[in-house]
Amino acid sequence: MTSIPATRYETVIGLEVHVQLQTERKMFCGCSAAYADAAPNTHVCPVCMALPGVLPVINRKAVEYTVMTALALNCRIPTFSKFDRKNYPYPDLLKGYQISQYDLPLSHDCWLEVEVEGEAPKRIGITRVHLEEDTARLTHKTDASGDTYSLIDMNRSGVPLMEIVSEPDMRSAEEARAYLVKLQRTLRYIGVSKANMEEGNFRCDANVSLRPAGSPDLGSKVEVKNMNSFRAVYHALRFEVDRQTQELAAGQRIPQETRGWIEADGRTTSQRSKEEAHDYRYFPEPDLPPVTLDVPYVEELRCALPELPDARLLRFEMEYGLPLYEANLLTESRAKADYYENAVAPARVKEVTEFRDYARQIANWMVGDLARLLNASGTDIEGCQISPGDLYAMIALVEEGTISGKIAKSVFEEMFRTGKAPATVVRDLGLEQISSSDEITALVERVLSQNAKAVGEYRAGKQEALKFLVGQAMRESRGRANPAALTETLKARLEA
Ligand SMILES: [Zn+2]
Repeated sequence: MTSIPATRYETVIGLEVHVQLQTERKMFCGCSAAYADAAPNTHVCPVCMALPGVLPVINRKAVEYTVMTALALNCRIPTFSKFDRKNYPYPDLLKGYQISQYDLPLSHDCWLEVEVEGEAPKRIGITRVHLEEDTARLTHKTDASGDTYSLIDMNRSGVPLMEIVSEPDMRSAEEARAYLVKLQRTLRYIGVSKANMEEGNFRCDANVSLRPAGSPDLGSKVEVKNMNSFRAVYHALRFEVDRQTQELAAGQRIPQETRGWIEADGRTTSQRSKEEAHDYRYFPEPDLPPVTLDVPYVEELRCALPELPDARLLRFEMEYGLPLYEANLLTESRAKADYYENAVAPARVKEVTEFRDYARQIANWMVGDLARLLNASGTDIEGCQISPGDLYAMIALVEEGTISGKIAKSVFEEMFRTGKAPATVVRDLGLEQISSSDEITALVERVLSQNAKAVGEYRAGKQEALKFLVGQAMRESRGRANPAALTETLKARLEA
């Protein structure tokens, strides 16, 4: 009997990301969009509470932020765009419809390049980036008698929300994670959103399906919701791929449905099937004019974009001679990359080898000791007490021989703790390196007189005795003796 080879399946993933824009005001009214610490229902007005007779007004900044995002994602920006009503009844949507964009979004045909470790970079297509409004927030409660009730907070209602829809181009949970990380980094670089999944201003739904490897058709799509971190997205996708693989292997059909990720159980469960899908009955929003974006305006925004993460990473490798690993960590956020460049700046007057040496050392301190101290104290680079200039100055003290590389570690920790300048720390703690020949000679004499046995051994031809004596002198000087000067003086004195 010949065995039939098992079908190999290919994973197909598409992601829908909703991002709250960091504008001052809401999408269609003058209410403050910064509601994170506000008491419920305090950032409200007749417009975002959907009272009858009110009229929305488009937030120019939100359109600008969406176009900037679209430009950063290599999108095409049409000159004509409009808003539409998306009708659906739900308690968090008081108007009974959401103002969104249907057939003429602010941008389309975009892409983002992502990299999974050990694989070649890959372009993930993005169908569109469009603008809409966020809904109110419901909190479901149970009272003492066991009855359930819901509370509504309108503060979030009408906050500008950008939707970024990818093509089904991802083939693994790893690729999906890399896409989200790159997207988040890009949004933060251009400063349009805090893009924090745990805070709910960056939300992700995933579409996952499997198909026989090589097949051009898509399998039935399962939508996964309720993921609150990149970790959750990654695990939910891994779970869903395994589940669908097993179902297919058992000869089952995968129904098209929406499933929710249950974090505590580490699995997805069915929430609703295709039959309950909504018909949104979109139509053009009659209360808003269309949006026209002329070419000079779009070009102006393009010119105002900061250097994007990929370009900056590449420049860090070329300009500073950094390895990919360091360059990647240092360009993780704009603040970190700015800190690095500010620290390196004073070294620009030096000749190229020395400049590269400073650039490498500053990178090492940042990804090493500084990262460790920041992590341990739960602070980020913005809250760091050591200024970029002081990091440079400390390395300069090592370079000019004022302190040893070993002492620099303690100086750095003291700077981190107190925010004091390196020269001040060195002076206050008496950590200057001992280099003067008088001081070194006195130290050597002291050590020789205390270690007659080792002196005798060295003179009898035992070379290792020198190492021992250097060690003793270093300890005597509390690590402050200049090692080269010390060794030279010791040797000269022993061989005299
Ligand atoms: Zn309002």
